[in-house]
Amino acid sequence: MTSSTNSKDNRKPINILVIGGSYGGIAVLNQLGKLLKEKETKTETGESDGVSARGAAAKVVITLVEPKNGFLNVIGIPRCMVSADFASTQFVDFESFKNFKFDKVISSDAETAKIAARSNSDSSKPDRTGYVLQWIQAKVTKLEESYAEYQMEYSGEKEVIDFDYAIIASGRDRTYPVAPKARSKKEFVDEMQSFVDSFKDKDVISIVGAGAVGIELSSEIKLHFPEKQVNLIHPHATLPPEPLSDDFKSKVVASLENAGIKLLLNTRIASEADGFLTTTDGRQIRSDFTFWTNSKNNNLAFLGDKIRKSYLSPAGNLYVNKFFQLSYNDQTLPNVMGIGDVVELPIIKTAGWAMYMGSLVSQNIIELLSGNEVSNAMIASEDIPKGMLLVGGNADIISQNQGKIEVNNKEFVELYKTYWVDRIVYSYNNA
Ligand SMILES: Cc1cc2nc3c(=O)[nH]c(=O)nc-3n(C[C@H](O)[C@H](O)[C@H](O)COP(=O)(O)OP(=O)(O)OC[C@H]3O[C@@H](n4cnc5c(N)ncnc54)[C@H](O)[C@@H]3O)c2cc1C
Repeated sequence: MTSSTNSKDNRKPINILVIGGSYGGIAVLNQLGKLLKEKETKTETGESDGVSARGAAAKVVITLVEPKNGFLNVIGIPRCMVSADFASTQFVDFESFKNFKFDKVISSDAETAKIAARSNSDSSKPDRTGYVLQWIQAKVTKLEESYAEYQMEYSGEKEVIDFDYAIIASGRDRTYPVAPKARSKKEFVDEMQSFVDSFKDKDVISIVGAGAVGIELSSEIKLHFPEKQVNLIHPHATLPPEPLSDDFKSKVVASLENAGIKLLLNTRIASEADGFLTTTDGRQIRSDFTFWTNSKNNNLAFLGDKIRKSYLSPAGNLYVNKFFQLSYNDQTLPNVMGIGDVVELPIIKTAGWAMYMGSLVSQNIIELLSGNEVSNAMIASEDIPKGMLLVGGNADIISQNQGKIEVNNKEFVELYKTYWVDRIVYSYNNA
């Protein structure tokens, strides 16, 4: 394949667009920044003939488009949905990460727009001679092969940005408020508090759908409100639905039952009315508050027709090659990449995978910028381990990791005290 930078005017910056600033997106900002800086250093010492050697003016501009003004730790959402205090620990403003002190911020919110001035006068801000890092507080509304349209938060204004490379890391939408609308920590905490207010006076709570969200949310409600009856309703005989071992599944069931959660397996809900759920086989289940966790879809409504027709799978995922470039049959879009939850790959989607993919595409972009072929590939499908970790009843941590099935592995218990937030904050404060 060819690099789109080869034919580029040396005086123009190279624009890299990152859509979505969660696990996948911020891994790209971090890793790409690190690699560009290394490249710059090598160029200065005459060791490299890479992007900077094409002329000092060929500066790289990395632009993040993300509506939130910080990183929301999705992993901790079920606990956030029962405790606004805990929620305030799970949203970390971009400004408080050393590595995401932006050179430029474009926001219609006057306070948010001031972040860049503060960053630029902050002595802890990393030196970025090799690139510029900017953030636009907006949502991408259209993506074509070389440009994107976006809509600013707050003002609703629409703008266009050209790019040389784009990385789609826009993740998934889920039942509100599992996917909250918040743009700031305050809005997020308020949304979580409203959710608690909506069920706190109800006696019988039903969660419909025992995927990760249903299992963890029913567990958190029972743990924080032990006096309530919590039903977890699932249409199949086992849970969770992912292809994991029977041992893992039975440990999850045991943890839910031990915690006093009422499991209704092989139960499909046909309708909901007047405080009762009616099953497809005619049973009635009292439910004062019902929450459905059985829907999710990728945030890809912005794909332009051409990309949608060529690279969107029937399941609504992006077809990518092993280098994460959009690719299907004999067609490849080398400068547009998909990572994280949005890709069509035979894996159980996790934050860990999103970060891993973010790191690989960063290395591949550096290769393309240097006029080389991409070479950093996803591990072969036969080597992909099937693993999952769930916070079940009584906050038990049930894990299937590298073939090992455990309850309350010491390291995981420690990490899940903050749901990884401490680890994530640490890694993006230390380049
Ligand atoms: C309840 C729950 C528990 C989980 N537990 C674990 C766990 O224990 N361990 C684990 O590894 N994984 C876990 N996961 C899975 C993990 O959260 C996902 O795999 C991960 O969030 C995927 O990261 P991502 O960067 O691809 O997308 P996301 O985290 O979904 O982020 C997408 C980002 O894109 C932004 N965005 C969306 N649309 C646009 C747009 N149009 N323009 C610009 N930006 C946009 C969003 O605001 C968001 O910031 C859990 C998931 C859930 C729901």
